[in-house]
Amino acid sequence: MPKANNIISLRNSSIQPNTITEETLDPKDPKDWDLLRELGHRMIDDIFDSFIDIRNKPVWQAVPNDVKTQLQLSVPHAPSDVFQVYEKFKQLIKPYPTGNAHPRFWGWVMGTGSPLASLADLLASSMNPHIAGYDQSAALVEEQVINWFKELFHFPENSSGLLVSGGTMANLIGLTVARHKQAGFDIRNQGLQSNNDRPLVVYCSTETHSWSQKAIELLGIGNNYLRRIAVNNQFQIDLRELEQTIDKDRNEGLNPICVIATAGTVNTGSTDDLMVIGQICEQQGLWFHIDGAFGALVALTENYKHIVKGMEKADSIAFDFHKWMYMPFDAGCVIVKDASSHKETFSVSPSYLATMQRGLSSKPMNFASLGVDLSRSFRALKIWFSIQTEGIDKFGRLIEQNINQAFYLEKLILNEKNLQLLAPVSMNVVCFRFYIDTDEIKLNQLNKELLVRLQETGIAVISSTIISNKFALRVAITNHRSHLQDFDLLINTVLNIGLILETELT
Ligand SMILES: *Cc1c(COP(=O)(O)O)cnc(C)c1O
Repeated sequence: MPKANNIISLRNSSIQPNTITEETLDPKDPKDWDLLRELGHRMIDDIFDSFIDIRNKPVWQAVPNDVKTQLQLSVPHAPSDVFQVYEKFKQLIKPYPTGNAHPRFWGWVMGTGSPLASLADLLASSMNPHIAGYDQSAALVEEQVINWFKELFHFPENSSGLLVSGGTMANLIGLTVARHKQAGFDIRNQGLQSNNDRPLVVYCSTETHSWSQKAIELLGIGNNYLRRIAVNNQFQIDLRELEQTIDKDRNEGLNPICVIATAGTVNTGSTDDLMVIGQICEQQGLWFHIDGAFGALVALTENYKHIVKGMEKADSIAFDFHKWMYMPFDAGCVIVKDASSHKETFSVSPSYLATMQRGLSSKPMNFASLGVDLSRSFRALKIWFSIQTEGIDKFGRLIEQNINQAFYLEKLILNEKNLQLLAPVSMNVVCFRFYIDTDEIKLNQLNKELLVRLQETGIAVISSTIISNKFALRVAITNHRSHLQDFDLLINTVLNIGLILETELT
């Protein structure tokens, strides 16, 4: 193999700093570098102080109006002192986050983040690699992280995978591969416009997350062709109705292509019967996609992994690192068993992205060929750093701890006559309400107000949903900072607010 010419070497490539007249975003001279370094050290100190102090802060507080006004000023043309800008950050921005880093945040499904992962994110953005492919370390790290999860989820080694912004994007990619593989015609060239007489159909349950509607609309399949199958009393997809609907659609000349199962539904944390859905897909020749945004990670636990039995049967699976792996936003992942279909779905080869024999582009643009994004950040480093440091078993134990906390909370609720459980607890989501003997409309009103007042106390943040027409207080635990006592405090606070509201309402 030819070697680089020794005469043209790195050694002769330096230039004298004092000859530079151009502008740059780097500090100008050693003194300015020292100042920025000092600021950096101060930031790290402040970051760690606030991690340590987090329990003493309100989970959430509303952004005051004067702060809003300040954050709506128009673009500055002139420079400001960086220390003053940092002060502004501390006053205007830092105190008013969503609060999901706090030990008593259990709203929606948001991860906590971790000090170590934040540091790794800083390293990643300071390296600032571009991960479309290329012969570089960051691409290898992403591949390694994906390979770890193929192994942990019992997917074949030759599956392919991609880190993406989150579950929505990961699910969209899985469904796009399903459409490509199953359409039965050249969808990339002909598009869906050539297929008016035999519409594609996708199946999911009424509990499937709303990414599915966005995806089905974006893919041109159309919301009317996303069949939302009813669920049983455990909030799992009704398997008989699923099979009957597929048969009916086939008999009517439609083209069923894919079933979406959920591991960990957003409403109640239920998981569909993955084993049987896998069998149905096999028999019916359908693509089996799993939305495991948070639930897939239960596979890492010792005592609850049976919940996701059959997960390895999926043709594609989507999950998030920024939920139940506690990583800072954002990082999701999709794994696709049929690697060549995955690549065929997205690959393009413009002249400006050609692969060379040697050099930086001696590796193909592998990652860009597996999804939508071309420019991609180094999301893998925070995951790699965390798993290297803690060991993956620690994450299994944390997930298990969260599930045990959900069962503990369930017990607290069942012990109170003024609280009512609204859905069975099967994983890490608990739905309940404050209950008094009155009509449903009043109960819904009361619980809505209770939810908001609870958030306004700053003691805890939970969110809501509707379960069988009942307004539910919803606790989703993907938080490595929560202790059992935090749930005692939640219940006490809910009861106190509830009793005040009861007297206000009557
Ligand atoms: C959060 C969630 C999604 C969407 O994932 P994002 O990372 O928020 O895009 C999809 N499905 C389920 C079950 C979820 O909980």
